[in-house]
Amino acid sequence: MPDRLGPPLTTPVFDRLALIGLGLIGSSLARVARQKNLARHIVAIDASEDVRSRVSELKLADTVTGDVTDGVRNADCVILCVPVGACGSVAEAMQAGLKQGAIISDVGSVKGSIVAQVEPYIPEGVHFVPAHPVAGTEQSGPDAGFPTLFLNRWCILTPPEGQDPQAVARTRAFWEGAGSMVEEMSPAHHDLVLAITSHLPHLIAYNIVGTAADLEAVTQSEVIKFSAGGFRDFTRIAASDPTMWRDVFLNNKDAVLEMLGRFTEDLSALQRAIRYGDGEALFNHFTRTRAIRRSIIEIGQDSAAPDFGRQPKNGNQ
Ligand code: NAP
Repeated sequence: MPDRLGPPLTTPVFDRLALIGLGLIGSSLARVARQKNLARHIVAIDASEDVRSRVSELKLADTVTGDVTDGVRNADCVILCVPVGACGSVAEAMQAGLKQGAIISDVGSVKGSIVAQVEPYIPEGVHFVPAHPVAGTEQSGPDAGFPTLFLNRWCILTPPEGQDPQAVARTRAFWEGAGSMVEEMSPAHHDLVLAITSHLPHLIAYNIVGTAADLEAVTQSEVIKFSAGGFRDFTRIAASDPTMWRDVFLNNKDAVLEMLGRFTEDLSALQRAIRYGDGEALFNHFTRTRAIRRSIIEIGQDSAAPDFGRQPKNGNQ
């Protein structure tokens, strides 16, 4: 594969990096950490025996274990890459093994709930710098990961107020080494922004694909056959991991419900425009949204190529 990430670092950001949960995100981090020399020693910790043996076969880590407490021992950075709902119990399990000065981070798609779940288990003298790489695909598991997943994608850090600036700077350096652009904000603001840009679109996709599957007047084979008419892009999003997305909605309830309320009002306005033949309202709305698409392309967060320029390995979730 071409080295689009640039050359490996001469000095690793971390001496010993422990990744908990070697699915899409955790295994992508292991791959990029190895390729870019972001860590000297990589420890892979996963609850699943199947995942652990696959991680060993793929040689994604130097040490592979199912024991969280033991796995995090002597790590100078631990990154939780498990579903949002599992973060509290994993944090509790790792507590006893953490070394002084270690940095604890995560990759969860929700931040307020993760801070609430994990912070109580962070010992004195250990730093907590939550993170969310805004990058992904609808695939899961260690085989789905790839080292360029985070390249040119945003990673949002939500460090608690007063967090050690050096710990934040090292976490930033790690993500920049993985090819990401890094921004900092509060957990609450993160959850509001992501509710509209990621969580609500996923809910809409899950809903529309479910509705199409339940239709009686249109057969399922017709839905699949004529899916190019817009539906196909929803099916990709609606194929995303059920555990991950169940946890996202359960853990970002308030922000998602707020955005869903606004969405429903705006949908009613469009419904009204269709009912009363208000072509001008529809045309103006669609013109405004087309401009938003153009600005996303202009800042390089997607391609203008037909079919969204989608390549088999182009993470963008
Ligand atoms: P994934 O592919 O399903 O991987 C999760 C891994 O964690 C699996 O190997 C799972 O094992 C393991 N695991 C679950 N509970 C565990 C526990 N208690 N202890 C140790 N290992 C455990 O999921 P993913 O897509 O990488 O998502 C992981 C995190 O990244 C989530 O918090 C998600 O919100 C966040 N994220 C995902 C995306 C995305 O597009 N997928 C994007 C940004 C952030 P089993 O398979 O046996 O359950």
